[in-house]
Amino acid sequence: MLDEIFKNSLQFKNFLKTVKNGNAAHSFLLISKDAFSAQEMANLFAQVLICPNVCGDCENCQKIIHHLHPDVKYFPQGAKLLVDDSKKIVEESFTKPIFTDKKIFIIQNVDLSTDEAQNKLLKSLEEPQNNVYYILTTSNSDKVLPTIKSRCDKIVLSPADEEQIQNYITCDEKNKYLALKIGQGFVAKTLQLSKKSNLQELFEVALGLLKDLSSSKDAVVWTKKIIDQKTDFNLITEMASILIEDALLIKVDKNNQITFDKFASVVLEIAQANSIKCLSQLQAVFDRAVRDLSYNVSLPLVADNLVMKILEVKYLCK
Ligand SMILES: [Zn+2]
Repeated sequence: MLDEIFKNSLQFKNFLKTVKNGNAAHSFLLISKDAFSAQEMANLFAQVLICPNVCGDCENCQKIIHHLHPDVKYFPQGAKLLVDDSKKIVEESFTKPIFTDKKIFIIQNVDLSTDEAQNKLLKSLEEPQNNVYYILTTSNSDKVLPTIKSRCDKIVLSPADEEQIQNYITCDEKNKYLALKIGQGFVAKTLQLSKKSNLQELFEVALGLLKDLSSSKDAVVWTKKIIDQKTDFNLITEMASILIEDALLIKVDKNNQITFDKFASVVLEIAQANSIKCLSQLQAVFDRAVRDLSYNVSLPLVADNLVMKILEVKYLCK
């Protein structure tokens, strides 16, 4: 079960220890780039609080695993936490638990909520009822109010090992390899990537932009290749960034640290064709493209700019 990955983590083991020693705080903020991992861990934490052996078999464990435990409440009820959700949480924190002696609120993606909704929670987090616990999750702790953060025990979840995740991936080997490398230990992201049918195509585009694109005659072709991948533009830039990083590692003789180790010979070509300065400039060009797209510049324009800028950098660095 996927649970095993989370149970093997240092953060889980530490939490288990504090609960068994009776030292657990009442409010936690689980921080992970991977929202799914944070949510899974939150549910496991709830299980620990109610059944410290995390047996998985008792009625409490079973109900929590299936998100059906009456003493474990999940928020927000819609897409993001609103003031009404917070009001409900405050109200419910004063009602007695039904099945156990604890009441647990799991509040997911708290970074997406309004400041108002977060503010409404403050008092509960600050002076929790004896038997009430709050487990908040976020993938972007910068968007969580400092006042909320200061009242929570902050736990940063570390990514899992590739070896642990790969047993859960069922797709062809090429997709599996790319998903594991780009997923970088984040379980949900890796699983999601592994299911993408165009993952290899995206990689070819990222690789081609760095390796093959060399003359303005090809500009139109490459621009089209980018536009064809539509919503996956950010993934292309993410892969390109890793390739550039890999090339930089080769430049400083750290070949054994590159991410795309199976493509070492191609990465070497990129490293040989570009100076360190040139690689850094290429990185900036990709970053700029991501930013432009996030500012709602149209994809054709972003793609066109990207291709022209790559050519410019390559030309100037010659
Ligand atoms: Zn149990």
